[in-house]
Amino acid sequence: MNIILLGPPGAGKGTQAKKIAEHYSLPHISTGDILRENISNNTSLGVKAKSYMAKGELVPDELLITIIRDRLSKPDCSKGFLLDGYPRTVPQADALQMILTESNKKLDIVLNIDVDDEELIKRLSGRRVCASCGMSYHMIFNPPKEDEICDKCKGKLYQREDDKPEAIRNRLMVYKKQTQPLIEYYTRKGLLRMVDGGKDIPEIFEDIKKILENYD
Ligand code: ADP
Ligand code: ADP
Ligand code: ZN
Repeated sequence: MNIILLGPPGAGKGTQAKKIAEHYSLPHISTGDILRENISNNTSLGVKAKSYMAKGELVPDELLITIIRDRLSKPDCSKGFLLDGYPRTVPQADALQMILTESNKKLDIVLNIDVDDEELIKRLSGRRVCASCGMSYHMIFNPPKEDEICDKCKGKLYQREDDKPEAIRNRLMVYKKQTQPLIEYYTRKGLLRMVDGGKDIPEIFEDIKKILENYD
């Protein structure tokens, strides 16, 4: 299955993506994780992306399109993939369409995780991320068993630069302007399924499994 997870920053895309990827054995492709990895390795892509990300702006489409074209051509994507954080603009969605058509693939489903702004702000402000595996925690809603340590890999948790108040506000604005139009875009293609992201983590995952099982 070829799946896109759509939703505003803090909706729980990464959290659900880890569960879906494990349950359905799909590669989890998070463009945010790819970019952060490039920043910590100081690659030329990382250097280009860094200032945009710190401010909560989108990284230019050309860079993202190259990333996604490379990643989707890897052999592990031949049986399906789960995109988390891409596409974020209409040009990115159009480029994806082209890339898939060229390789005789198609999108199966777009899951839109819907959460209101007030809740998003709470989720983003309390988020802590594992520096080693990228797993998301929340200081109140989803705390690790041991303070500041990842349950899964024992990596150290940190607060993302863009999860500070100034950048959060900007990211929500950027989402509304540049990413929200994709809801309409994929509705028109008949691919969009709504997911109530206001529920708790296990409940949302159950809802997603129901949608995907009915699809199969
Ligand atoms: P995204 O990838 O969409 O930005 P994350 O999966 O990183 O979002 O989740 C954002 C924050 O909200 C994290 O701190 C995460 O632990 C927490 N979170 C995720 N899903 C829920 C939920 N259903 N209820 C409460 N908190 C959640
Ligand atoms: P979120 O918690 O907002 O879902 P991500 O980890 O997906 O965060 O993305 C973090 C940042 O990385 C974004 O604010 C943006 O600067 C950059 N980024 C990630 N994916 C894309 C994309 N598809 N297009 C442009 N910028 C992106
Ligand atoms: Zn970890």
